[in-house]
Amino acid sequence: MRIGNVAGRLAIAAGDEWVDVEQASAGRFAADPQAVYERWDEFRAWAADVPAGAPRVSGPLGVPVPAPRQLIAIGLNYREHAIESKLDIPEHPVVFAKFQSSLTGPDSVVELPSGGVDWEVELVVVIGREAHQVPAEKGWDHVAGLTVGQDLSWREVQTRGPAPQFSLGKSYPGFSPLGPAVVTPEEFADKDDLAIRCSLDGEVLQDGRTSDLIFSVSELVSRLSEALTLYPGDLIYTGTPKGVGMGRTPRRFLTPGALVSSIEGIGDLTINLVNEPVNEPVSEGA
Ligand code: ZN
Repeated sequence: MRIGNVAGRLAIAAGDEWVDVEQASAGRFAADPQAVYERWDEFRAWAADVPAGAPRVSGPLGVPVPAPRQLIAIGLNYREHAIESKLDIPEHPVVFAKFQSSLTGPDSVVELPSGGVDWEVELVVVIGREAHQVPAEKGWDHVAGLTVGQDLSWREVQTRGPAPQFSLGKSYPGFSPLGPAVVTPEEFADKDDLAIRCSLDGEVLQDGRTSDLIFSVSELVSRLSEALTLYPGDLIYTGTPKGVGMGRTPRRFLTPGALVSSIEGIGDLTINLVNEPVNEPVSEGA
């Protein structure tokens, strides 16, 4: 099953069309795309048997999971990326927060502040069942589905100060693109081995596989849940493969264009990057 936010309404894919869940369920499930994760098992059971003639919805795609209570991100979770970052391979997941105000959907316009914004394509996990102190072999049982994310990163902000503080430099407006849809785990032939890549105006920047994750999806759910309670509808950005701009010589950062992030079996998440408008100085006494 593919779940989308179509014109602000919860929808499930039927071929090239989208079924409007609120209408198709006669109001049993709300149109709010976030609310469904609170009733995930009930929704799965209902969605398995949607009538062929169910009402459709069309319109622009929005953020598929627009209001997670927690938006957790993992750093240095691919071996080659840790090496290009000149940091040790972690023994424990490197955890930080991204903030909800930075979420944006497919096809949105994101302004690049001057000073070096980097790209990080990431597999994003959507939690479907509350998780606390879950063993690694049960991690997938708590996952509703997978989607594509970008962890846009203003490196200058991320690395300033006496200790690195990832969260703020990765949470500027539009710095957490998400989409195009949430895909449930049984849709993948091997959910632990998916091609992941991103490109800017057609030039490939990153090209990896999620089987190279140091901490796999099930391991991350387990390790995070040692401390946290993960709630339905929470997001985990699982880390980025090698190929970021900061790891290049010379360093490279994003320029205006179409940034396309793709994961096998989920699809393309495209955002349009533009330069932030330069503020004219306000003349005094005007
Ligand atoms: Zn990241």
